[in-house]
Order: sequence, then structure tokens, then C-alpha cells
Amino acid sequence: MKPVAKPGRTGELMPVEVALEQLLALAAAAPIRDSESVLLAASEGRVLADDLVASLDLPPWPNSAMDGYAFNLADWSGEPLPVSQRIFAGQAPEPLMPGTCARIFTGAPIPAGANCVEMQENAQVQADERVIFVQALREGQNIRPQGQETKVGETVLPAGTRIGPIEQGLAASLGCATLNVIRRVKVAVLSTGDELIEPGESLGPGQIYNSNRVLLCSWLKRLGCEVVDAGILPDDLPTTRRRLAELGAVDLILSTGGVSVGEADFLGIALREAGELALWKLAIKPGKPLIFGHYRGVPVIGLPGNPASTLVTFALLARPYLLRRQGVQAVEPLKFQVPAGFIWAKPGNRREYLRGRLDQGRAVIYKNQSSGVLRSAAWAEGLVEVLEGSTLTEGDWVGFIPLSEVLG
Ligand code: AMP
Ligand code: MG
Repeated sequence: MKPVAKPGRTGELMPVEVALEQLLALAAAAPIRDSESVLLAASEGRVLADDLVASLDLPPWPNSAMDGYAFNLADWSGEPLPVSQRIFAGQAPEPLMPGTCARIFTGAPIPAGANCVEMQENAQVQADERVIFVQALREGQNIRPQGQETKVGETVLPAGTRIGPIEQGLAASLGCATLNVIRRVKVAVLSTGDELIEPGESLGPGQIYNSNRVLLCSWLKRLGCEVVDAGILPDDLPTTRRRLAELGAVDLILSTGGVSVGEADFLGIALREAGELALWKLAIKPGKPLIFGHYRGVPVIGLPGNPASTLVTFALLARPYLLRRQGVQAVEPLKFQVPAGFIWAKPGNRREYLRGRLDQGRAVIYKNQSSGVLRSAAWAEGLVEVLEGSTLTEGDWVGFIPLSEVLG
């Protein structure tokens, strides 16, 4: 088991990129390699286990990019050409009869002997049904050559590619009915806290409803994971020990709550007894405390419990970790720079991920950025990144990570 790195100095906050780098290294050291064949239609959100190699040329034969007329330039002297055949998409044409043209439609194979297609808008059909072309033409015009998109043997999608609708479409164009994908990552989701009860139960004094459980379970499913919903852990040590021991074989234990410094740290104690654990203090807001460790050899990520902290740390740290375990290289969400539509007067010592929106191209932020306020994220379209130590006036550039980038 590899020891987990700790921040450089006691009390020093770990920069977000350092935490990410360490998590990705830990993920790369514990790759999930088992694969399974799934139906193409069921492959969305999964990760390719092998390179997808083209078994045919795309297109498989030259075809027409237009509705029009196929002919050979050598036959065109300005004299009208008779139409010798009609070729629709899905048909196999006859070789082109010399001195003639073929009526042809988009996607139909180019007949042998033709080297050019003129679109019907530039063709005039005479009373005797012979055709005149009104513009200068060149060889290959309006013909999609064989293999233009892909040639046999080319790697079209490398192993480690996440499958989405576009990749499915591409695989379908190559005739793949199934894909070999990494098996689902099995993640046990644990909520911690005596105060938590589930929606549907009636709220007693001091209790709150568990919002992280459903949030993470749904999110993980979107990421193609197999979720073991391990329920709520009460704040007591014997139960924590027992429930952890009951988890069975999983690839990751993902918990929320119980990582704040100074609180009764039952999860931490139980994990330390049966493995190792590092408590990271991250330069991130919301979401300073995060644990990474191993319980009986199983990796554990403990996210902070406040819902907005859970969301931000899952999006920026746990999600990339889970993707990298499956061999995905591009694990970081797209971030682009937009002008701030707000003022940030007080520089912080942590990088802030404010829940915000774009308003006429400018980032604006929800009025309450408390880490307990999940509504901020429901209102938001993205995370607005304010770097540690910086202040902003309106129009200054800020990073914007669309939530749509991280939710799937
Ligand atoms: P903790 O990290 O356990 O101290 O939790 C920090 C804050 O997040 C506390 O206000 C908890 O009540 C709240 N919290 C922890 N877990 C959840 C959860 N699953 N759903 C909603 N709130 C939670
Ligand atoms: Mg707690």
C-alpha cells in the first residue's frame, strides 16, 4: 500500500492542484483493468477498455455529397449529356456508360467511370432530357472519397475514451454492435452524522434530511459507477467499525461528513485502525477538509459534509479520481475565462468556487455562498473560480467551470 502524501508543513493548506495531482497519482496506481462487452446502446458513460480500430473505410466507397449528376469530365465538352441511370442512396450502380451522366442523390455510390458530380441547381435539363452544366467543374467535385473520414486499421477512439452519444454514433458508423469497456467502478457511499434522517421520515429535534446521499448516488450513476448505498453512519465508534467491516468488496469508499477538525472523528478512528488515513486541509472553499486513505486496502475518500462542499470537492477532486481509475486521461473539466460581473473585495487564503451563472457573458454569483446552501448550486450554471489572494473588480477575468462539464 502506498503511503498517502501529506501537505508540506503542518497547518499549511494544500493547493487544489497539488491535491488533484496526488489523487490522480493514487488513482493511476490502482487502475481498474477488468473489462466487459456491452451493447453499444448501453455504453454511454462507460470508458473504452481497448482502442477502437476501424474495421472498414469510412465512407466504404466514394459517394455523392449532393443531389445532382455524376459524369466524367472527359465526356463534358459543353454538349448536353444524356442520363443513362438513376442512382439512389442504398443502390449499387452500374458502371457509367461513356458519353452519359447519371442522375445521382446524396449518399449514393459514385458509378465506376464518373469523376465528378454537379449539383442539380447548376444543371439544366433540356426538353429532350439531356443535361447541360452551367459552371466550370473540377475532378472530384462533390464526391466524398472512400476513407475520407477513416481508413481501415486506424485508431478512431483510443482506450480510455469516455463514451457519450457522439462516440456511440461514431462506433455505430463503423458497425460496432458492442463495445469493450472497463467494468463499472463499485463505489460505496456513506453519509455520516447523528443528525441525518432520510426524506420521508419525520424530522425530530436537531435533525436534518440527508441531501448528500441521493446527490452522490445519482451523480455516481451518471459517471457509470455501480453504487452501493451504504446509508447513514451514526456518530459512534462500534457501529462505524461494524458498518465499515460489512461493506464488502468495493473499489472506493466515498463518505461525506465527519471530517471537520475537532469533532468526534469516528470514521477517522475506524479507518486508522484498519488501514491508514491522511487528513488534508485544502486551499479550497467550500470544502477545506478532505480525507484520503485505505480501509483494509480499499481506497477511501472522505468529503466534507456541507452539501455545497460535498458538491465542489466531488466535482473537482473525486470525479477526476474516479475517471482516472478507469484510465481516462482528460479528467479535468473545461474551464474558460469570463469577465466578472461582481466585486470581490476581500482576498482569501483558499481558492473559492462560487456558485454562479453567466449573465450576458459575465459571471454573477448567488447571493448566499455558504457551504451549507445547496440552493446556490441549483441556481448556478457553473463554478466561478476566484484564486487565493485575489480581489476582483467588475470586468476582471475569472475562471468558469460549467456544471454540465462535471455532472456527467
Ligand atoms: P460534518 O463534516 O459532519 O461536521 O458536517 C458538516 C455540516 O454538514 C454539518 O452541518 C452537517 O449537518 C452537514 N451534513 C453532513 N452530512 C450531511 C448530509 N449527508 N446531508 C446534509 N447535510 C450534511
Ligand atoms: Mg458530522
